[in-house]
Amino acid sequence: MRFTVLGYQSPYPGPDGATPGYLVETDEVRLLIDCGSGVLAQAGKHLPIYELDVLLLSHYHHDHIADIGVLQYGLMVHQLFGQRPADRPLPIYAPEAPAQNVQALTYRDATCFYPINEQTSLTIGDVTVTFLRTDHGDGDPCFAMRLESKGRVIVYGADSGPGTNWAAFAQGADLFICEGTYLDHNKPQKPNGHLSVRDAAELAESLSCGSLLITHLFHGYEEADVVAQAEAYQSGTCYVARIGLQIDLTTQKG
Ligand SMILES: [Zn+2]
Ligand SMILES: [Zn+2]
Repeated sequence: MRFTVLGYQSPYPGPDGATPGYLVETDEVRLLIDCGSGVLAQAGKHLPIYELDVLLLSHYHHDHIADIGVLQYGLMVHQLFGQRPADRPLPIYAPEAPAQNVQALTYRDATCFYPINEQTSLTIGDVTVTFLRTDHGDGDPCFAMRLESKGRVIVYGADSGPGTNWAAFAQGADLFICEGTYLDHNKPQKPNGHLSVRDAAELAESLSCGSLLITHLFHGYEEADVVAQAEAYQSGTCYVARIGLQIDLTTQKG
């Protein structure tokens, strides 16, 4: 699997930035994970969007879904132009609530909604995907994702507070993609459904993950500050998200 950061910022994109969106490519399939503000413009640097096979959505907060409307328009036009078959809507796998968000995911022949929950196991080409509900939000579900292909494991942590039970789901993942929404100086006193950079590092270390990618960062953070606060993670390589960063799990040693 090759993993590419298309967007990583939150809650809104900085100049030339993008909020969460990630591309996973194998020999057989191309998966988009989340589709935040500015993600489509970045995706076009790597592939024509009509070649996407699947969109996986963690939850419906704006920073993760802002570009879905224009993705639907784009696919509709590519179908009109004959670049994508009209009978091949893009499957969007996403949580079943809130209902008004679910409704918006099926659009003409362009996209089609399929529900996910913790019992869902998807096989998409040579990738299997399972889901874990995270401690996030105001009652509506948010799902982390575990992607496995050819013996390699990527866990995308989505948005998550400290109450998520990662043990069985993320233990020993080759790549753990974990949010680091806060630096120490702006971490709220009470948990509010997010983690700090330090939390992410401690988590990845305790789960013995082969590598860590810290994401969901405020666009004004300095990379050096993020790296400095990730010192608890010592098991392997620590990446800090930036647009265009690629991690190749076929060559990386776990
Ligand atoms: Zn969220
Ligand atoms: Zn978010």
